Amino acid sequence: MPMIHTCSPSDLPATDPLDMLVVAPHPDDAELALGGTIAKMVDEGMRVGILDLTTGEPTPHGSESLRREETIAATEILKVTWRGNAGLVNRKLEATLQARELVASYFRMLRPRWIFAPYWNDAHPDHVAATDLIEAARFWSKLSKTDMPGDRFHPERVYYYFCIHLRLAIEPDLIVDISDHWERKRRGIEAYQSQFIAGRPTEPPTLIERLESDAAHWGNLIARRYGEPIATKEPLAIRSLRDLI
Ligand SMILES: [Zn+2]
Repeated sequence: MPMIHTCSPSDLPATDPLDMLVVAPHPDDAELALGGTIAKMVDEGMRVGILDLTTGEPTPHGSESLRREETIAATEILKVTWRGNAGLVNRKLEATLQARELVASYFRMLRPRWIFAPYWNDAHPDHVAATDLIEAARFWSKLSKTDMPGDRFHPERVYYYFCIHLRLAIEPDLIVDISDHWERKRRGIEAYQSQFIAGRPTEPPTLIERLESDAAHWGNLIARRYGEPIATKEPLAIRSLRDLI
């Protein structure tokens, strides 16, 4: 059974650097926005982590213990290398100095090459706060002469995922082909019964069907079955035009 680390970053067991760390305001955001990319990178042998910032509770059909069980089930499906919960407060997430130090400490201990934050335009204040917090923590992570644990470290890139509570016509900068990983993504999302199944309309299109249509839309734009959109503020470098689909 996968372990959800809840200790302070300074007490984390030593680990090899992660290739990527998805930082999520709530347990389920990582699955919803990047479940396919996460499963794909895991299958390619990358060390992938998820840091949930809060418990995500209370919600209408969830509870702390149920959400933890659902998170463990989803983690088992995606098979990520590492998952933790920073213990910040749901609905009250703020980019405070204290929270910045905490998240930067995770970066120094886990040393992810790439970090993933929520897209900056969202209706959910926790998501907007998380984006600010992650960007500031990325900068702080490289500070010297500090009390933070671990060595100074700067995540090479920050990418933004779309898990937005707005019906935006989004414009991603890249789309990952998740055709072979849509099923794993769907199962990872369905693990959160209290969030996506319980109390939701059962008439088509169900939430899961709408998510599949979204994935098919992004896949269609790259002539693949399913895709997952990602944004970036900094331009991307590619080794060769041949790396593109
Ligand atoms: Zn969320």
